[in-house]
Amino acid sequence: MKILISNDDGYQAPGIVALYEALKNVAEVEVVAPEHNNSAKSNALTLHSPLYVHRAPNGFRYVNGTPADCVHIALTGLLGYRPDLVVSGINNGANMGDDTIYSGTVGAAMEGYLFGIPAIAFSQTEKGWKHLDAAAARARELVQQMMVHHMVGSQPWLLNVNIPCLPLKDLKPPKVCRLGRRHAAEPVITQTSPRGETMYWIGAAGPAMDESEGTDFHATAHGHVAITPLKVDLSDHERLGYWAQSLAHLRGQAAA
Ligand code: MN
Repeated sequence: MKILISNDDGYQAPGIVALYEALKNVAEVEVVAPEHNNSAKSNALTLHSPLYVHRAPNGFRYVNGTPADCVHIALTGLLGYRPDLVVSGINNGANMGDDTIYSGTVGAAMEGYLFGIPAIAFSQTEKGWKHLDAAAARARELVQQMMVHHMVGSQPWLLNVNIPCLPLKDLKPPKVCRLGRRHAAEPVITQTSPRGETMYWIGAAGPAMDESEGTDFHATAHGHVAITPLKVDLSDHERLGYWAQSLAHLRGQAAA
């Protein structure tokens, strides 16, 4: 059993070190992670500048690129073998609801999934690495259970896991959830640079808008580990018929 580990907070982040330490005795693990913080890079790939891979003293490999770059080059030549599982994290902060669209943590896992490999993105629900040991223990437990039940190394799937920042004894059992929704983000923040130019800082993510029962927000607020199976197909399947009809109608009008 071979596991590729990546993240978006960078190869020196406590979350990836904890994930590596938690998994190194249950499988053959290799780390390929961004050199610097790449949070909110989603599935971005670097196409217009070269990527370099270096090895840190602890054996982790780091790349001057995005989370998806790391997994992409690992799977297309760097590793020289196909891992059975790609795991990403543990992220410094929640990746719930709409966060999953922006998240580099999810992006790294999704890149593995796009290559046909089962993948899990792990995040702690709050920043600051509080009770990281508990989150890592829960991550190991989930991976081990999946290995025992032969869910790894077969069909690809993609799981998004958010772990409340609680001591192990207070963490409630995993709950399978849908994604909630956030309100629109906070307003952009402007400052004046030393050279008199206006600088814009992207504002914080909005608060939860849909945090009803069944969502990741609800589960983690009640102490559960939230597990959301994700898919990548963005097609609006329910509205295919509506759009087919509407566009046929528009064409009919144009003809008349
Ligand atoms: Mn991050």
